[in-house]
Amino acid sequence: MRTGVLLLILALGFTSAAKGSEPAVKKVLLIGIDGCRFDALMYSQAKHLKELASSGAYSDQTDVLGDRKTGAATITGPGWSSAVTGVWADKHGVRDNSFRGENLAAYPSFLQRLTKTRPDASAIAVVSWNPFQKYVFNHGETCRFVLDGDRGGYAEGDRQVTKTAETILAEQNPDILFAYFGEVDVTGHGYGFHPRSPKYTNAIEAVDEHVGKILTAMRARSTFAKENWLVMVCTDHGGQGRDHGLGEKVPEIRNGFMILNGPAVRPGKIDERTFNVDVAVTALTHLGVAIQPDWKLDGHAVGLR
Ligand SMILES: [Zn+2]
Repeated sequence: MRTGVLLLILALGFTSAAKGSEPAVKKVLLIGIDGCRFDALMYSQAKHLKELASSGAYSDQTDVLGDRKTGAATITGPGWSSAVTGVWADKHGVRDNSFRGENLAAYPSFLQRLTKTRPDASAIAVVSWNPFQKYVFNHGETCRFVLDGDRGGYAEGDRQVTKTAETILAEQNPDILFAYFGEVDVTGHGYGFHPRSPKYTNAIEAVDEHVGKILTAMRARSTFAKENWLVMVCTDHGGQGRDHGLGEKVPEIRNGFMILNGPAVRPGKIDERTFNVDVAVTALTHLGVAIQPDWKLDGHAVGLR
């Protein structure tokens, strides 16, 4: 009898242990900081971003142009298109900010890849740059265009992106949330893209405050303990002087960066060469989306366990 009771207790214990070890729901938070140099980020007082890098994984050599000629300029349109689609400009067709020749219906963002594969999933981009809603996140993704940064200013755009992202994390159940920040790039154009440009590092610190709020909102989710968030931070290009347009041979422009954080991440510096097309593929891999050969993705998953 006693043995029977003991076995029953053990069985109940195992049942609840099995329930407790249900796999956590995998999610992705992607923070996009336009025109952000990693050396300036590290030189700044951006405590949240630096903490994400030091306790997670990072690459300070993320090539934004790729290993073949694609005709892409080192500017916003091609940079973000490559990062979120996982293919280079000879496939997605975005070579400059006119988006002329874009082929994003054939090579959609990783947000679209997820919701197409799992129609119940939620993928939301929160942005302040008009071409994102017009061209990039225009193939079934949910795009929250909070404000036109070109008209209302990117500092205000960044604030509204933050508020919207906080609300989404509190009230909705996103599987992917992309939050875009534009003020760092604008400040680089005005005062120089450089670690010793105080206005530039101040702009990075302002975005860092926004990132801190978004991380707090993520961790405050009532379901956070049952979730496995991959937090990623990346950029579309660096900068030199007050520009970044012709950066093919300029490491300060051509090298972006990637920061990864979360339980799925293998901590430490990533030694292999990385590319901004790896962003989309790393996100999809974390989410458990089976990558189809006919998607012809150029990126690879990096930094995951
Ligand atoms: Zn720019």
